[in-house]
Amino acid sequence: MSVLEVETLIIGGGQAGLAMSEHLSKRGAPHLIVERNRIAERWRSERWDSLVANGPAWHDRFPCRTFSGIDPDGFATKDQIVEYLVAYAEQIAAPIHCGVEVKALHKSDESGFRAETSLGVIEATNVVVATGPFQRPVVPTLVPAGTGIVQIHSASYRNPGQLPAGAVLVIGCGSSGAQIADELLRAGRRVHLSVGPHNRPPRRYRERDFVWWLGVLGEWDAKAVAPDTEHVTIAVSGANGGHTVDFRDLAARGITLLGRAESYRDGVIHFSPDLARNIARGDANYLSVLDAADAYVVQQGLDLPEEPLAREIAPDPPCLSNPVCELNPAAAGITSIIWATGYARDFGWVKIDAFDHKGHPLHQRGVSAVPGFYFLGLPWLSRRASAFIWGVWHDADYLAEHIAARNGSLQATASIR
Ligand SMILES: Cc1cc2nc3c(=O)[nH]c(=O)nc-3n(C[C@H](O)[C@H](O)[C@H](O)COP(=O)(O)OP(=O)(O)OC[C@H]3O[C@@H](n4cnc5c(N)ncnc54)[C@H](O)[C@@H]3O)c2cc1C
Repeated sequence: MSVLEVETLIIGGGQAGLAMSEHLSKRGAPHLIVERNRIAERWRSERWDSLVANGPAWHDRFPCRTFSGIDPDGFATKDQIVEYLVAYAEQIAAPIHCGVEVKALHKSDESGFRAETSLGVIEATNVVVATGPFQRPVVPTLVPAGTGIVQIHSASYRNPGQLPAGAVLVIGCGSSGAQIADELLRAGRRVHLSVGPHNRPPRRYRERDFVWWLGVLGEWDAKAVAPDTEHVTIAVSGANGGHTVDFRDLAARGITLLGRAESYRDGVIHFSPDLARNIARGDANYLSVLDAADAYVVQQGLDLPEEPLAREIAPDPPCLSNPVCELNPAAAGITSIIWATGYARDFGWVKIDAFDHKGHPLHQRGVSAVPGFYFLGLPWLSRRASAFIWGVWHDADYLAEHIAARNGSLQATASIR
């Protein structure tokens, strides 16, 4: 079996791996990227057909490269994101080995780390694990298999035509669930949508996109939270030119809203009676962004037009006062369930003592306690922006600086010997 030696091994050829390469190159630090499939594979094969970026093209990109052929206020399609990342990879000088999977990663006394890959062994002084913030789709074992209902995760959803005829139950109201439910409704499907706690910032307010507001209000820089902090999903959409996600509007257009899915008994799905509370909480989050934006306008003396209509919340749809807490999918004609229920991590192949007892990576801004071992691209790695295309750029810069300093001190030690 061949053994390849490299100073820094980057595992993963998504935006995080590419950003890491860019920043190591700037510091003259030799490295190699391995990617088990193709560059930007998750955008190619784990996203639905009509998906567009959640943020406008001026924002959802690397700081050093714009999208060509897209209005900066427009939203890149998933194919344009793939093209963008592939073009980016093509101008990277470092070697990128696609089709090479790291099957196991060990600490090794001699070199630092030993990666057992599908192509042989790679020994590295430093390793950056950039295998994604969203690695393994989570499908709760709520509705048993064998009921005749097709059940897929949002990572496997492509388009309405993929689903059998009939009504659809979408579970989860983050950006994926809200967008997929909307798409199915527009395609003429009868849709039921299970809505849990969520934030739903305005798409635009006072002539600025919400990503701009989150930036000036310091929200993107909000610091990492403890691993066990309750995660509240965020519902935003760049679809159809971009719009505020408003569950009241979806209900008015015909979607049946339900609370959180809780259990399944005797052919009936049971939902929590929390729908009104979840919608109210989402509205409060929406209004709080408007309040913070208004305060910022005053504080900075900005000339941005007032937008009082944005504060008008539509009346409660009937499903809020009289929520459906039990649903017999067969009686409702439901033939498919789409679980838009998020992702878990999958670091089973990393045989290094850098995780807590629950399997959460242990690190400070991506720097683990194991010298030379780094994580990049995880949600909240250093701040809210860490899992997003432009946020990972800054985390990669920080890690590259750390790696360059470590390489420098290792070389200095070697020269003294
Ligand atoms: C539906 C959805 C929409 C999103 N929309 C946006 C958006 O609009 N804007 C935005 O900024 N962010 C968005 N994100 C968040 C984030 O930008 C993406 O998840 C992005 O793909 C993360 O890039 P990454 O490089 O960190 O990880 P990934 O894209 O997951 O890349 C990791 C790579 O590692 C490879 N890999 C994994 N394990 C191994 C191994 N053992 N050996 C070798 N290779 C391996 C994988 O094949 C993969 O290509 C979205 C996420 C989702 C799920």
